[in-house]
Amino acid sequence: MLDNNLFHYTGTTLSCDEVNLEELAGAFGTPLFVTSARSLIASYRAFEQAFEALPHFTCYSVKANYNLSVIRTFAELGCGCDVNSGGELYRALKAGVVPERIIFAGVGKKPEEILYALESGVLMLKAESLSELKAINRIAGELRKKASVAIRINPDVTAETHPYITTGDSKEKFGIDEAELPEVFALFRHLPHVTLTGLDMHIGSQIFEPEYYVAATTKLLAILNASKDMGFAIEYLDIGGGFPVTYDPLKPATPVRNFADRLIPMILPTGVKVIFEPGRFLVANASVLLTKILYKKRNHTGKEFFVVDAGMTELIRPALYQSHHEVQTVTRHEKTIIADVVGPVCESSDFFARHREVGDAEEGELLAVMSSGAYGAVMSSNYNGRLRPAEVMVNGSEVKLVRKRETFEQLVQNELMEELE
Ligand SMILES: *Cc1c(COP(=O)(O)O)cnc(C)c1O
Repeated sequence: MLDNNLFHYTGTTLSCDEVNLEELAGAFGTPLFVTSARSLIASYRAFEQAFEALPHFTCYSVKANYNLSVIRTFAELGCGCDVNSGGELYRALKAGVVPERIIFAGVGKKPEEILYALESGVLMLKAESLSELKAINRIAGELRKKASVAIRINPDVTAETHPYITTGDSKEKFGIDEAELPEVFALFRHLPHVTLTGLDMHIGSQIFEPEYYVAATTKLLAILNASKDMGFAIEYLDIGGGFPVTYDPLKPATPVRNFADRLIPMILPTGVKVIFEPGRFLVANASVLLTKILYKKRNHTGKEFFVVDAGMTELIRPALYQSHHEVQTVTRHEKTIIADVVGPVCESSDFFARHREVGDAEEGELLAVMSSGAYGAVMSSNYNGRLRPAEVMVNGSEVKLVRKRETFEQLVQNELMEELE
């Protein structure tokens, strides 16, 4: 079973909540992202329940799925946001997240982004280098403000996940090295427009092993203690995101409770407020990418292909990380075949599944690429002249279009060219 997955067969047709996916494809076309609001809410509740015993505050990491309606669904539950750019801050504010619940992160913030965050009155900015701390101080000074700053520490823990999504290793670009901390503390003493309010880490994504969090949190707690001795009153300990989800039922994710069971006893006695920044955990299994089978073909070796109307331009994870996504036929089939499910883009890496057992569907039928809610639509592109797909949100029997399909006009709207005579 995929976690908090509200996609299920009613009779012989795959549904989201109370809505049949065939009807959605008929009404909105394909490719189409379908998101279950109830699944988003269930994941948030599961997370909150696991960490209930710990005074904390959860900031949804907007980069996993920045659709305004997704952000708003969490905001309405009291969830804050972790944003990574001016554009994400704009989205969070637009979706109705109050600035006091927004944390601004990012390894390369431009001066205008720092200005925007300070003017908006976000809870904290994370500093990822000494130079950036100085830049925040300078810009806050110009605004005659004092900026609340968390320092992102690189805990030098190599979490075992895909090499492209590990971030807490000393080889990586993220965070401030422990060796630089004395200089950081000295700077906080001397710079008049920054206050040290938090210690932060984020060790990677889709981390199955709680011990990595334990190792990194141990380091953060030691730094918290040391900073107390130096007279700093640090309010927040930010553990970051990275909590895992199930993509492949044969490789079920570690339940979030197992992380809580290890972390709560470590942190609770310190009395520090904790911030979590789950992204993937809250959204991955709440959406599917609905796509139509354009053609079936078989090559001379007997290999079968389903050529579908969605591709790496809508969901790049298989191409980028070789990640697994379940593929289900929307109409249930007893008979199955082994096939590659591939997209229309001119790249060999444009596939959703290889050598996979799938229902023996006909051309024109629909497939659902499961667990497409995190790092799916947000990474979509116009490569190959493709239009970004529509997105709908389902809540019970209610359906809302939450993003319109792009048009050809939008593809070229920012381009300038001399008119033809
Ligand atoms: C990406 C990111 C997250 C969210 O990661 P998930 O694996 O999606 O939970 C949280 N915090 C920071 C700083 C990030 O860069």
